[in-house]
Amino acid sequence: MEAGIVGLPNVGKSTLFNALTAAGIASENYPFCTIEPNVGAVPVPDSRLATIQKYIQTQKVIPAVLQLVDIAGIVRGASEGEGLGNKFLSHIRNVDAIVHVVRCFEDDDITHVDGSVDPIRDIETIDTELMLADLESVTNSLDKARRTARSGDKDAKRRVELLEVCKTVLDDGNPVRSLNPEDPTLRKEINGLQLLTSKRVLYVANIEEDDLEGTGQHVQRVRERATQEGGEVVPVCARLEAELAELDAEDQQEMLESVGLAEPALAVLARAAYKLLGLESYFTAGEKEIRAWTIPIGATAPQAAGVIHTDFERGFIRAEVYAVDELVQYESEKAIREAGKLRVEGKDYVMQDGDVCHFLFNV
Ligand code: GDP
Repeated sequence: MEAGIVGLPNVGKSTLFNALTAAGIASENYPFCTIEPNVGAVPVPDSRLATIQKYIQTQKVIPAVLQLVDIAGIVRGASEGEGLGNKFLSHIRNVDAIVHVVRCFEDDDITHVDGSVDPIRDIETIDTELMLADLESVTNSLDKARRTARSGDKDAKRRVELLEVCKTVLDDGNPVRSLNPEDPTLRKEINGLQLLTSKRVLYVANIEEDDLEGTGQHVQRVRERATQEGGEVVPVCARLEAELAELDAEDQQEMLESVGLAEPALAVLARAAYKLLGLESYFTAGEKEIRAWTIPIGATAPQAAGVIHTDFERGFIRAEVYAVDELVQYESEKAIREAGKLRVEGKDYVMQDGDVCHFLFNV
C-alpha cells in the first residue's frame, strides 16, 4: 500500500516529502521499502505502542510505516505530454491513494506557476489533467471491450457497462471518485479499472507559519471542497515541519510548545493517510520488540500473520489475541490468560484494529 504525493510545482511537495521521511527509518526493519530517492517510509505515530510498553518490557519499539512516493510536478498540459507528462501519470497509476498538496501560503519570493495563490484553481488544474488522461484511457478501453463483448463475453459486457458509467462522469467534468459507490463490489470493480481519478484523495493545505490552525480563507476553501467530495484536509506548514524534523526530541518539544502545536502536523498527516488507504494496525509484543504491523481493514488472522512472514500465513494454526485495553486492565499477559480473557482465534477470524497477537503456526 502506497500513497503518492502530487501537486503543482512550487507548492511545497519536496519540502513536505523530505520532512516526512527525515525520521531515518532503520531499513533493516522494513525490507519492503525500496531505496529510490523519491520513495520514502513514514512512521505512523501510535500512542498504543507506548501504552503496551508500560506493561511489557522490551528492547525496541517499532512503529508501522507508510510508503510514500514523491511524484514530480504536474503542469497544465501534462495529459498531452507537457512537463513529465505521461511518465508522471503512469507513476500515479501505481499508487493506492493520492496526497494532494495545495499551496495556501502567500510568499512573494516564491513564484506560483499561475501567478497567484488560489488553491481551488490549482486543484482543478490537476484534476483536469487527470480527468483528460482517464477519458483517453476509458475511450480506448471501451473500444476494445465493445469488440470483445460482441462475441458474447460476459466479463467484457460488464466492463463496457462500467466504462460507460465512468465516461459519463468524466464527460460531465467530474472525477471518477465522485461516483463514490456504496456497494463494495461495485467500488472494487471501478477501482479495478485503474483510473487516476478513482483513487481517494487527501488534501494537504500548505499553510503559513502564522496560521497553524488553518483558519485562513485559502484553507477554508480547500476544506469546503474536500467536504463536498467526502474527503479530508490536513493543514501543514511544510517549512516549519522541515525545521522540526531536523531537531532532536527535546528541542522539537520546545519548538512545538513555542508555536502551540501538540504534535508535529506530520503525525496527523501520517494517520490520515493510513486511514485513507484503508489500513489498520495490530501489534506483536515481546521482550525483543513491540511492533505495529500494517494490514488492510478486514484482513483475516492468517493474512495478518502473513505480513510478518509468508510462511506464517501458509502454516497458520491459530492466534492468541487480546486488546490493549485488557492489558491496561490486567497489567500483564499472564493475568489476562489467568482471567480467561486471552482469546483463541482460528483462520476465519477478522482482525480488529489494535489486537495484540501471538501466532501459532507450522513450518
Ligand atoms: P515543490 O516544487 O512542490 O516540490 O516545492 P518545494 O518543496 O521545492 O518548495 C518550493 C519553495 O517553497 C521552496 O523555496 C520552499 O522553501 C518554499 N516553501 C515550502 N513550504 C513553504 C511554507 O510552508 N511556507 C513558505 N513561506 N514557503 C514554503
